[in-house]
Amino acid sequence: MPEQSNDYRVVVFGAGGVGKSSLVLRFLKGTFRDTYIPTVEDTYRQVISCDKSVCTLQITDTTGSHQFPAMQRLSISRGHAFVLVYSVTSRQSLEELHPIYQQVVSIKGSVESIPVMLVGNKSDEACQREVATRDGEAQAARWSCGFKETSAKMNLNVTDMFQELLALDTRHRMSLSVDAKRSACQRHAATLRGRCSLM
Ligand code: GDP
Ligand code: MG
Repeated sequence: MPEQSNDYRVVVFGAGGVGKSSLVLRFLKGTFRDTYIPTVEDTYRQVISCDKSVCTLQITDTTGSHQFPAMQRLSISRGHAFVLVYSVTSRQSLEELHPIYQQVVSIKGSVESIPVMLVGNKSDEACQREVATRDGEAQAARWSCGFKETSAKMNLNVTDMFQELLALDTRHRMSLSVDAKRSACQRHAATLRGRCSLM
């Protein structure tokens, strides 16, 4: 984490329609909507505990694989941790993560010390499934990253996935649970700052 900033930046990548926004909204607000509203790029903030203190978890929900290349590079270079989302109902959406993963590797040098989670969302869609769990696991093993199947719709594994992502960062001890009194006051400050859009 850079010295001057108390923000821990997580960037969520993946093809359009895989459920990136749904995962972020389920995680932060506990809500889900069935309608698809394409995202430009939104950043959300949440106070978490970090190294016996608190810091701000900043989650950037990107527009998908068709993000402007310069914007994608900027999100990667500023990011501390990455969530790569595909839908288990679309093999194509898993394929589309390859160039994003390659770009994370090329900008960050290596992913060894960078927390990355490969996430197969829409695990509730049993009849529409195109990617088997073992195929997702095998890809994550090749990429040396974490893996979870989630359902933003049914609220399966969503918090666990973000918790596991933070646990992959061995340089900081981060946890989503914050001391209640401290959290209330920090949350108030975070709310006043509100939701913002990057760039
Ligand atoms: P994004 O483009 O990756 O941000 O995708 P969205 O979050 O906007 O979701 C795209 C569509 O998939 C919406 O209609 C959501 O309701 C739906 N969706 C998202 N997550 C899930 C899920 O876990 N299960 C199912 N069945 N549908 C989902
Ligand atoms: Mg979206």
